[in-house]
Amino acid sequence: MKEIKLLIGGELKTSENHYLSENPANGEAVAKVYLPTEAQIEEAVNKAHDAFYSEEWRSMDQNKRADILEAISEKIKARKDELVNFEVQDSGSSLRKAKADIHNAASFFKVLAGQLRKFQFEVKDENASRAGFSNNYKVYEPIGVCGQVIPWNVPLVMAAWKIAPVIASGCTTVLKTAQETPVTGGILAEIIAESGLPKGVVNIITGGAKEGELLLKNPKVRKVSFTGSTQVGRKIMEQASKSMQKLSLELGGKSANIVLKDADLNLAVDGALYAFLYHSGQVCTSGTRLFVDQSIYEDFKKALVKRVEEVKVGPPNDPTTGYGPVISKKQFDSIMAYIEKTKMEGAKLLSGGTRKTGGELDKGYYINPTLFEVTPDNTIFHEEIFGPVLAITPFKTEEEAIKLANSSIYGLAGAVWSKDTKHAMEVAKKLETGTVWVNEYHLLNPGMPFGGYKQSGVNREMGEEGIMAYLEVKHLWVSDCDERGKKPWFDAIF
Ligand code: NAD
Repeated sequence: MKEIKLLIGGELKTSENHYLSENPANGEAVAKVYLPTEAQIEEAVNKAHDAFYSEEWRSMDQNKRADILEAISEKIKARKDELVNFEVQDSGSSLRKAKADIHNAASFFKVLAGQLRKFQFEVKDENASRAGFSNNYKVYEPIGVCGQVIPWNVPLVMAAWKIAPVIASGCTTVLKTAQETPVTGGILAEIIAESGLPKGVVNIITGGAKEGELLLKNPKVRKVSFTGSTQVGRKIMEQASKSMQKLSLELGGKSANIVLKDADLNLAVDGALYAFLYHSGQVCTSGTRLFVDQSIYEDFKKALVKRVEEVKVGPPNDPTTGYGPVISKKQFDSIMAYIEKTKMEGAKLLSGGTRKTGGELDKGYYINPTLFEVTPDNTIFHEEIFGPVLAITPFKTEEEAIKLANSSIYGLAGAVWSKDTKHAMEVAKKLETGTVWVNEYHLLNPGMPFGGYKQSGVNREMGEEGIMAYLEVKHLWVSDCDERGKKPWFDAIF
């Protein structure tokens, strides 16, 4: 059986504790996974700390760091079949999604390498500088040791989003993968161990809340980068305040999908389904609130209910599957409880609302795509479910749609569907959310920033902003005036 070890100080290590990672489709063991002890978590942070202050890493030229990012990208590509296979088994991802994820993870390292080659770590600000007075520079420097924690939903992509900017910025890190899905992060550890990266720059461990807490509260951790629920994000922000750790938080969402009356109906129906069903709805950007113009509402609803029946819920390794099981019994129970609550609240169930069973599906946690017609009085209008459940609401005016969309504590993503893209852009600009698609959904561009407004997060990942999030900026003031009498402060004190 595959063994997933801990990457600490450049070495792949076992530990006294281990568990078996489970396939959510059938409960079978996927890999033997080593859990770090408290001492090993501390050792990993110490290795990251030593690496941060090592001459080898501090003096490494940015082009050489970019070469390493490209080497990691190539090695992911070389092991893509193995990675796809394990991502399917470990996370319940459909085969089609896993193929895209592994490709995206590899290309993320490559794109960051390109950005790094162009990145200016020292910039003279000509507007701030004045001849005979001062030369003013912005110098961008790595923050230091990072503690990074990722969720279980898209394991390799999440690990790539965290690790690539660490290498690009010159920081060092200990990354904790989610205990539910540690396998592809563990394979990435093997890849990194042989990538030419100095030992200790990237350390990878796994574990749950206990291991995450131990890692993030270590006083040597200067930057915390966390992706997960808003609830845990709040705790982490509180803990970070004790030593003023720098923070990047990518948290929950309840994204609004707005269909205007002039939308291409068939396209918007498919887009709405993709928005909430991708990866069984276990995606932070899921479009789980659908707002449809009253004038097309009945036609739209009819088309949506018909089309949803064509989505294949099935075993993740079947290439025809649209989406597979949810990750665990805990997640299944939580989603089913939301469904029951919504029924009790009297919302109209348009489709689904049940477990999908039959044959080998009985061994996994499959849920039929579920459509509810709701009002803002319903719980699922507001709360993130992280499952294949959609809340549909009609609107009379665009102003009403925008108001409803913005009436959320979250602000991660959203979309507007209309044939008039110029007008749709105007609507999009009124949404309080970090990403808005026009006639599109879920697609992310590694060159563009990603993150949340409001309680969906702090800071950004990806794009130039994603590298900036790992840098401190130093104002370097160099005097251009050597004459004592001309110094502006001379009169003030002498
Ligand atoms: P979670 O918050 O329960 O756990 C996330 C990670 O944090 C896991 O690795 C977990 O072990 C760890 N953890 C839990 N408690 C901790 C603590 N007190 N200190 C340190 N670490 C701790 O979330 P989840 O259930 O794994 O993932 C689903 C959530 O993640 C959803 O809310 C989803 O929206 C969010 N998410 C956000 C993004 C984004 O980019 N905004 C992406 C993916 C998922």
